[in-house]
Amino acid sequence: MDVLVAIGSSVAYIYSLVVLMGNAFGWHGLGEYVYFDTSAVIIVFVRVGKYLEFRTKGHAADSINKLLALQVPTACLVDDGQEREVPVSNVAVGDAILVRPGERIPVDGTVLTGESTVDESLLTGEPLDVVKVTGDKVVGSTINRRGSFTFQVTEIGSDTVLSQIIRIVERTQASKAPIQTSADRVSAVFVPAVIILSILTFVGWFWLGEASFTHAMINMVSVLVIACPCALGLATPAAIMVGVGRGAEVGILFRDSETLEKTAGISTMFLDKTGTITAGHTTVTDIEISPDQSEIYNEDSLLSLVASVERNSEHPLAQAIVAAATARGLELRRAIGFRTVPGQGVRAELSGKKIVVGNKKILKPETVLSDHLEISLSDLQAAAKTAVLVAVDGTVIGVIGVADKIKDGSIEAMNELRASKLELVMLTGDSRATAEAIAKEVGLESVLSGLSPVDKAEAVKSKQIDISGSGYVAMVGDGINDAAALAQSDVGMALGTGTDVAMESADITLISGDLLAAVSALKLSEATVRTIRQNLFWAFCYNILLIPVAVMGGLHPMLAAAAMAFSSVFVVGNSLRLKSLKL
Ligand code: ADP
Ligand code: MG
Repeated sequence: MDVLVAIGSSVAYIYSLVVLMGNAFGWHGLGEYVYFDTSAVIIVFVRVGKYLEFRTKGHAADSINKLLALQVPTACLVDDGQEREVPVSNVAVGDAILVRPGERIPVDGTVLTGESTVDESLLTGEPLDVVKVTGDKVVGSTINRRGSFTFQVTEIGSDTVLSQIIRIVERTQASKAPIQTSADRVSAVFVPAVIILSILTFVGWFWLGEASFTHAMINMVSVLVIACPCALGLATPAAIMVGVGRGAEVGILFRDSETLEKTAGISTMFLDKTGTITAGHTTVTDIEISPDQSEIYNEDSLLSLVASVERNSEHPLAQAIVAAATARGLELRRAIGFRTVPGQGVRAELSGKKIVVGNKKILKPETVLSDHLEISLSDLQAAAKTAVLVAVDGTVIGVIGVADKIKDGSIEAMNELRASKLELVMLTGDSRATAEAIAKEVGLESVLSGLSPVDKAEAVKSKQIDISGSGYVAMVGDGINDAAALAQSDVGMALGTGTDVAMESADITLISGDLLAAVSALKLSEATVRTIRQNLFWAFCYNILLIPVAVMGGLHPMLAAAAMAFSSVFVVGNSLRLKSLKL
């Protein structure tokens, strides 16, 4: 990019040198006028432009600097009941750390004792404080508000959530967007073309226009300087840098620039139900026992049996069932041979009996449900609850109804997504009746239910084939049982719960964990792509308009240099507007 400016200023300098030497030896063939000033001023302007660009680019990196500044230097180590202030680099995994009100939490960990509220807005951009009690995860650099607590360190150094965020943001800001590749291709032919054009300008003025050698040379220098594609080279990276930084501030992490660009082109969005549209904070609401089993089982014994199996599972349904059993003070037994069937349920053996818990798919095809249970099942599903069937040695003995709440922001997010003309489809492993009841609540029309994790990925794939070329397919999921579909989609958005996020693998990580963040990601991507287009347009337009002026001899090289510096600053300034984008 600097080739043109280098040639331009060198030509003016060497010409002047020849005149100066010639005059010293009494030769006046090129006249007496020298252009050292032009050569110097071109360089001065270009440097001033670069300096301003550097200053403004510094602002683009603000978000990273802010994150780096959040790292806490010391921690209060609790050792044998003794409290000791130590540098954070001396803290090891497993240490107990005390955090007092108003302090920043030094590293990641799990609360041991005490209770407090924590401001996690650095992760999520949301101002609400989060309650932390024993067993909850805390993230380094978030701010402790009300109480004191101790926590056990689980991650230090480069493994902490904050370090991961910084790494992702830096990597993304440095990555190349596809749109830049086309700009680079243009630049690659542009520079040689301009060199040829500048020679033609000289030839035209000197031989055809019969101008003096000096005049022709100066016009040639103007063409070289004004055509420098510096602004063109800045157009994309400047906007990407600011856009990615803005995303990080509100908890939206893009894996690379390509993802940021692609997000603006999403035409279909698949959404997982449990944990994505719904909160995944499930509670047991009903326990129904088949009448022919009522002499053997009551609610408590059924719940204890199921919870003994489910305590081995991490599924939100399993957690609800275990929580219900614990709340009733039921004793849990040890299950053996525990196995998960994704999208269906779980199996295990308990006191020599085969226990199967899940939906109809996990039962043997010949299994029949009593009329009573069939009715309970459809009643539960019509009420948007998930019905969990329980079978012992092949006989279905009861059904547990588990309700989930629609997540905060889901309905609002759905309205916004619908308004942006996206095709929206819910994907779920749950039954059709339950899924449709939830879909109706959030205003979703299209539902694919009863899907295994593999089916979900297949659904994404067939959509991609269906609409190939006319848009991208996005998948929004909770990242655990939706991993296959997230990987298959063009843009996989993983909802984090603020702490345990699979950040390195998702295309986009939405740390706040609600669907409104997906809407913000779309907005940010659109705004960034729009800014890139504006930058490219102005950078080009300006070259295209001023090159002919320079060829015609209407632009002094010094003015050309000033204009060129201005165009670079303009592009960076335009990109910085993204910092104030409302999300
Ligand atoms: P979603 O697609 O809604 O996130 P999953 O794919 O995780 O749901 O599960 C789909 C269905 O499989 C659930 O609705 C439930 O019927 C059954 N299931 C999965 N895991 C379990 C479990 N641990 N206990 C009971 N049922 C389960
Ligand atoms: Mg799920």
